[in-house]
Amino acid sequence: MNDLRKDPVSGRWVIIAKEQMLKKEDVVEYPKPLETDSKSCPFCAGHENMTPPEIWRWANPDGSWSVRVVPNKFPVLRVEGNLDRRGEGVFDHVTGIGAHEIIVETPNHDYLSLQEDGEQMFRILTAYKIRLEDLKNDTRLRYGLIFKNFGGEAGAHLPHPHTQLIAMPVIPKHVKEELVNCKMYYELKERCLICDILLEELERDIRIVGETEQYVAWSPYAARFPFETWIIPKNHSACFSLENDKSLRDLGILFNRILQALRRVLESPPYNYILHTRPFAFSPRHKQTTIDDDFHWHIEIIPRLMKIAGFEWGSGFYINPTSPEEAAHVLREALTG
Ligand SMILES: [Zn+2]
Ligand SMILES: [Zn+2]
Ligand SMILES: [Zn+2]
Repeated sequence: MNDLRKDPVSGRWVIIAKEQMLKKEDVVEYPKPLETDSKSCPFCAGHENMTPPEIWRWANPDGSWSVRVVPNKFPVLRVEGNLDRRGEGVFDHVTGIGAHEIIVETPNHDYLSLQEDGEQMFRILTAYKIRLEDLKNDTRLRYGLIFKNFGGEAGAHLPHPHTQLIAMPVIPKHVKEELVNCKMYYELKERCLICDILLEELERDIRIVGETEQYVAWSPYAARFPFETWIIPKNHSACFSLENDKSLRDLGILFNRILQALRRVLESPPYNYILHTRPFAFSPRHKQTTIDDDFHWHIEIIPRLMKIAGFEWGSGFYINPTSPEEAAHVLREALTG
């Protein structure tokens, strides 16, 4: 019998279709990543003048850089202008104010250069932190979303390893859903929902993929996709950008090991990852005063192996043919092997 499972954080339902098995027809065909030329790549070292003026860099003593942050050349939201929130009859309108930045993760074109390097991951995470902290000061903005598209199937346009940051004047729907569920749970139990899940997962130990001193990775109980993996800080924290260097180093080690395990098991799949941290600010009418106690930041890694079909679009349900217990088992083996 298949399971219907509800993810307590997002409130989403998932059908864990154990009887279905992941079929070849369901899996998107993904080419090996990165067969392009680095000569015309704006993110490669030596091509710095091909990007808009730099916002931040991890500078090395020899004058080179390890990570660079630049504005997106084709931003979906722009920093310049006045923020205007108004209704147009039944419709809500907000001007397209915001920031759209690119975090160039390495001076080298090939993603393989990032493998086995937890220290570089630490530098990348530091760039996320610094940019979020800076954008938080812009009182027009309410949320900063960090996300990565790797591989064409996951929406990447350029193969050079990079992450994107979009800061916006509204809180996105998926984040809002998590905020509401975490707040409701907190009001009921006076405990953080994700802290409670963490205790339960560590005790059951059937969906844990790996852990370090300060972080744990698991396949969520109601995973939407095969091999979906979350990384969570063990100590309660609502805000990613308040983590210190020691914590981000520890995270970098686990994050890197998980990405490598996914590459090994799924042969360099296209994937997305997203960082869900607390909003910069709330609308005056919808303040979440317990946010620092009720929300727990996390990273969601989603391999893009499957097509999303009509049922998913129409229902918000997902059908996942690989049980999270099975996925966790396979990834755990790959992590230690
Ligand atoms: Zn490049
Ligand atoms: Zn917590
Ligand atoms: Zn989330």
